[in-house]
Amino acid sequence: MAETNETQQYSFKAETKQLLNILIHSLYKDREVFLRELLSNASDALNRLRFEMVTNHNVLDPDAELSIRITADKDARMLTIQDTGIGMTKDEVIENLGTIAQSGARKFLDIAKENQADFSQIIGQFGVGFYSVFMAAEWVRVTSRSYKPDAEAVTWYATGEDNYQIGKADMSERGTKVEIKLKEDAAEFAEEYRLKNIIHKHSDYIGFPIYIGEAKEAVNKQTSLWRTSKQEVTDEQYKEFYRQTTLDFEDSLVHIHMSTDAPVQLYALLYIPSKVERGVFSLRKDDGLKLYTRNILIDEYNKDLLPDYLRFVQGVVDSEDLPLNVSRETVQSSGLMPKLKKVLTNQVMRELGTLAKNDAEKYQTFWQEFGVYLKQGIASNPADAETINPLLRFKTNLNPEIWSSLEDYVSRMKDGQKEIYYIVGEDSKSILRSPHLDYFHSQGTEVLLLTDPMDSFMLMGLHKYKDFDLKNVAQAEVDTTQKLKDQPEEEKIADTDFNSLVERFKQVLGERVTDVRASTRLYQSVARLANADANANPELQRVYKYLGKEYEIPKKVLELNPSHAILKNLLKLESGSDLQNIIIEQIFDSAMLVEGIHPDPSSIAPRVQQIIEAALAQKNSQ
Ligand code: ADP
Ligand code: MG
Repeated sequence: MAETNETQQYSFKAETKQLLNILIHSLYKDREVFLRELLSNASDALNRLRFEMVTNHNVLDPDAELSIRITADKDARMLTIQDTGIGMTKDEVIENLGTIAQSGARKFLDIAKENQADFSQIIGQFGVGFYSVFMAAEWVRVTSRSYKPDAEAVTWYATGEDNYQIGKADMSERGTKVEIKLKEDAAEFAEEYRLKNIIHKHSDYIGFPIYIGEAKEAVNKQTSLWRTSKQEVTDEQYKEFYRQTTLDFEDSLVHIHMSTDAPVQLYALLYIPSKVERGVFSLRKDDGLKLYTRNILIDEYNKDLLPDYLRFVQGVVDSEDLPLNVSRETVQSSGLMPKLKKVLTNQVMRELGTLAKNDAEKYQTFWQEFGVYLKQGIASNPADAETINPLLRFKTNLNPEIWSSLEDYVSRMKDGQKEIYYIVGEDSKSILRSPHLDYFHSQGTEVLLLTDPMDSFMLMGLHKYKDFDLKNVAQAEVDTTQKLKDQPEEEKIADTDFNSLVERFKQVLGERVTDVRASTRLYQSVARLANADANANPELQRVYKYLGKEYEIPKKVLELNPSHAILKNLLKLESGSDLQNIIIEQIFDSAMLVEGIHPDPSSIAPRVQQIIEAALAQKNSQ
């Protein structure tokens, strides 16, 4: 810091220098965005002042119009942007203009460093912020006077080199003035028509009048985009607004633009992103919607406007009904919030329903990204289950490749089917081999495949769809008296033999099962584990497992398939031999595995090795 009487010299932070270096020395096709950035800063400053004035009447120039004025002098290549916003003190100027603020600038810098090739194409999509002015400026002087009545005016001057100067200034009115000496090749930005053009393109919806020169009429529309009627907003404007708010490079899947008067007054512009992951450059650091009342931003990340399961929704809500003196803290306790939440939730759910109906492919993209949120919603907000249920999508044993709704399932149900069947498992391949499906496969009955960990939670709130109960196949009553068409009648093991085998299983497995018995519903599989208690809740058991709770899974009944070749061969082994014992262990372990309740799957490997060795030994001795 070098000091003279009037000015002090400061050095930019290292990363600011890097950013400036890139901004000054590269060529951009859309450097006009610097004006958008400066106008957005002016608008932020005006918004902050307006918010301050809600509670504080002790501000400088309380009656000054909240506005932005641009003046240009073509011959001198000068451009000036002045606002009557909150202004800055000397310390604030050093803090805000000496380091990279929380804007997109830092993120821009990160990728600019990695990817020299094409960032000049995308710079316009970043909020590179104040420093973007150096794309067009030879030098810049910012003069500011804070709204605090006893603050002194301050000036900041920089050419984009390593240093900036801070000095005292002569400025009596509140706000900030940014004076720009344009580079020779940037003289166009002192042309009035060009300025108007840029404002219409990027800054039309700034909520304060922007005047050019001495004009008394503002060049911008002034209403915010969300307050503009749908008919007047183009797709491109919706897209740009989304990019500006989120910095997501991918377009949103859907936008929802609404306004209501009853039961509450509100404007909302909401977006459903196309990805769960916020991009690495995203401006949004948290979930939540921006909440405005009468155009004043009172909460950047409001989480009370939508239920938790819709927290992926982005955008803006603005209500005239919220009292103006509501503080960011007390907005939560205002009785209006539940009403707003209800209206917004209904609308989002309705839009999702429409999307599902009109654009199945897009809905599928949505489902794959955000389905897990809706499932969570069923578990955490059972009261909303009825509205969420139609939006659920499933793979099934009969249609494993496509996403089916519960309605699709019901429409394909066979005559007389009274329940919706599902099976819960680890992944869609192994689940199809589950012994619980034997019977359903043989009947050609459709079963929902629930392989997502969230499914178990969902089932805690999903018991019924329309008139049909949802039923776990492991517990479903099945009618095995019906003759099975494709199933060749396998010869059963004789009762006495089977009983002695059951005894062997009981001896080996001991306390680990509550019973061993014959099953009437196994066809391809050797065995299955059934719940000892018909009212057991296998979903809950899984939930505990996922939550990593200390929880002992209730012991189960091992059911054996009396026609299965493995059991027939098992009988032929010497009773009580090592080989017979380890095969019994293995049958039990496999049944636990497909059930997804094996406490230590890796422990199976050594036994499998033993079995292979035994089988080979036997083969060689033959
Ligand atoms: P961002 O707007 O994302 O914070 P910028 O680089 O655009 O980042 O601006 C940096 C900071 O400088 C702002 O956060 C604000 O505090 C301050 N600032 C910039 N322009 C103005 C202005 N016209 N009036 C008051 N403060 C300003
Ligand atoms: Mg900014």
